[in-house]
Amino acid sequence: AKAKARGGIVLFSDELERVALRHTIVSHDLRAAIESDAFQMAFQPIVDLRTGALSGFEALARWRHPELGSVPPDVFIPMAEKSGLIAPLSALLLRRAARAARDWPSHLTLSFNLSAAQTDQPGTALAILSIIEDCGLPPSRLEIELTETAVLADLAIATRTISGLATAGIHISLDDFGAGYSSFGQLCDLALDKVKIDKSFVDRIVTERRAASIVGAIIGMCDGLNMQCVAEGIETQAQFDKLRALGCHKGQGYLISPPLPEEELIGFIARAERK
Ligand code: C2E
Ligand code: CA
Ligand code: CA
Ligand code: CA
Repeated sequence: AKAKARGGIVLFSDELERVALRHTIVSHDLRAAIESDAFQMAFQPIVDLRTGALSGFEALARWRHPELGSVPPDVFIPMAEKSGLIAPLSALLLRRAARAARDWPSHLTLSFNLSAAQTDQPGTALAILSIIEDCGLPPSRLEIELTETAVLADLAIATRTISGLATAGIHISLDDFGAGYSSFGQLCDLALDKVKIDKSFVDRIVTERRAASIVGAIIGMCDGLNMQCVAEGIETQAQFDKLRALGCHKGQGYLISPPLPEEELIGFIARAERK
């Protein structure tokens, strides 16, 4: 094939150049994009694995760049963190997501990803509260997803953010659980409502007995601590069945639905409620 004939080294440097170029463009345009509100939110359904009922949506940010097309959040969120733009960007995204969510049936929750750079900022909990109050979304319908690594980076400050949110009635979910290095003990004192099992475990759950054992242990911990357990990245029926058999409470992934544009939510919710 053509790619092979060109050699691995050449391809690798092409790729590096492409990525470097992309980063330059992205950081330059980010400020303008925030000012012109060039972002959209996609919403991925989260379902109850036992009943199949829809329980809410996770908001996932999308940037439609005029030349590059769709820039993924894995690229522009870190850029925003580095250039000091994460607070205004995050406020914009939360406002969008909250405005969409207030029109959903009231039992459906909104999950919103908080950047690692915000987890240890003192004003974060208050800023979130003021935005959702402004948008008319009750705190009990919001769930903030914090990554395990962000929480452990500065446990003392993260604990303050978490208890600030929890006191206001906002739910907290620990994202990408299992991908970091936390011991179960470090998480013991945090006011967490949910743990999201990282996709890397879900990927291996059917084929590797050891991965299934770890997931089983995480679910057992959640049951014991009165937390819910959510599995992300479910792509096959076999993974779905295995997670349900292990007692996992909730799940999301391409098998159930990809992230959806806001316009498709009303139809999706209507179909889900009819089932
Ligand atoms: P995450 O929070 O772990 O979100 C899950 C990612 O997996 C999403 O990628 C989602 O589209 C993707 N996904 C969902 N189901 C499947 C599946 O079955 N298979 C596979 N292969 N992937 C699946 P996305 O939307 O590209 O987001 C990537 C990451 O960017 C997120 O990871 C999150 O950490 C971050 N992110 C997204 N939106 C925001 C945001 O508004 N604010 C912040 N701070 N971070 C965000
Ligand atoms: Ca997440
Ligand atoms: Ca995740
Ligand atoms: Ca992830």
